[in-house]
Amino acid sequence: MMRVTLFCVLLWAAFTLNGFSQQSDNDLRLKTFHSISSNELMEFASELSADKYAGRLSGSPEYLEAAKWCASKFEEWGVKPANNGSYFQYFPNEYSEVNSLGSVVYFNGNEKTYLDFPEDFIPGSNSASGTVQAELVYVGHGITAPELGYDDYKNVDVKGKIIILESGTPYTKNDETLGKWTPYAYHRYKFRNAVKHGAAGMIYASKLANPNTVNLEGFVYAHVDTKVVEQIMADAGKDYRQIREQLKNMETPSFELPAEQKVFIRAETKYFPDAQACNVVAMIEGSDPELKDEVIIIGGHLDGQGQMGDVTFSSALDNASGISDILGAAKALATSEVKPKRSVLFILLGGEECGLYGSKYYCKNPLFPVEKTKMMINLDMVGNGTSFYVSGGKTHSQLFSHFEKANTDFIHREMGASAVTKNYGRPRSDASVFEDAGIKTFGLWTRNSVYPVHYHMPADKTNVLTPEIMEDAAKLLYLGVLGVANDTKLLQR
Ligand SMILES: [Zn+2]
Repeated sequence: MMRVTLFCVLLWAAFTLNGFSQQSDNDLRLKTFHSISSNELMEFASELSADKYAGRLSGSPEYLEAAKWCASKFEEWGVKPANNGSYFQYFPNEYSEVNSLGSVVYFNGNEKTYLDFPEDFIPGSNSASGTVQAELVYVGHGITAPELGYDDYKNVDVKGKIIILESGTPYTKNDETLGKWTPYAYHRYKFRNAVKHGAAGMIYASKLANPNTVNLEGFVYAHVDTKVVEQIMADAGKDYRQIREQLKNMETPSFELPAEQKVFIRAETKYFPDAQACNVVAMIEGSDPELKDEVIIIGGHLDGQGQMGDVTFSSALDNASGISDILGAAKALATSEVKPKRSVLFILLGGEECGLYGSKYYCKNPLFPVEKTKMMINLDMVGNGTSFYVSGGKTHSQLFSHFEKANTDFIHREMGASAVTKNYGRPRSDASVFEDAGIKTFGLWTRNSVYPVHYHMPADKTNVLTPEIMEDAAKLLYLGVLGVANDTKLLQR
């Protein structure tokens, strides 16, 4: 009798204590959860978007200053340096400084049109310094691919001329054939091919700031709005829409424009071939003696589009927003009384805008073995909208369930998800670099934008951010990552 009673008491105590500890665990989580505030995240975003960091162009001294600032925040919160005592993982990152907006002038006979910045043109991020004035040749995609029986230059002579170039490849379907076109999809290839054919300069028919190009000696170029190209075509008696249709049909509609049509480009730049940039790497060591050898990565790119003359491309949505969300989550995870059992590694990536340099460098030189890396979540442009979207969510569903639960229980946002799709073309995001390296990767985005998205334009400033979704993104990271970190039932790889 006595023994039974004692047993019951113990059973009762076990249940109750267990209940208490669970209850308090949840309370502790929520305490930290509610400490995440949009005000603070907006302070981070404003700091990173400030003129003093000059648009965080990877390789520039201002980028390195922004990296140092982020490291100082990690240090403040007790998030440790992750690279043998250093917060920085350096890699080579050539870049060009754009010292003035320069100018682009279009001549049609006696008519002279000065193009306006940023409505009509954006300076080339890697233009050579100098001037060029010449007649024009339209070269479509500017691709010479003998093995594909395709040559945009076959019927035209571009020697000493300014070419008009389109981005991308004529083949766009995401299947194995696209892989054959991939080498020709890179801006760098197109620039080199233009120079090889003797072109003196270029107007790129895609208007945006784009450091993902190459500085070639004497090759002056600028990005122009498609409406300018449309006008130039119309003056030549051509229908630009029809030309673009021909491009899609792989008809290589290249042609030399009438001699009275000319363009003048002036660019003022300085090239730094031997510069370096870095990833900022910081970590919270897991609290479990065994599970701490496994790691969860939270990352996003810190670099932006830089500065052109006096104009700072603040790169607020792309991607001061994602970095601010990550910093918010880092502070929360660092101060959380519920400790992550697995380790958490924060990587603020450099060189994304230059060609995914930082993510490629990390995946070649990982700080944790890839097989011990449970997952990576990448944030790019997470700060303008009312809902979330997670690429990879449908592929890595066991991991994703922790983020879904956080959202369902406490955040209540619409959250779409997709499966990882194999990309046969040029990799376009840091997330794809990690996924390709064999790490289960999520790409977190915001959707249903509240403000216009000024992609790679000077108007991408903090006034187009929605602080509430940033707060929720940091909260989603905090609860979701903590969920994964402490899930002892996670499948082995
Ligand atoms: Zn971005």
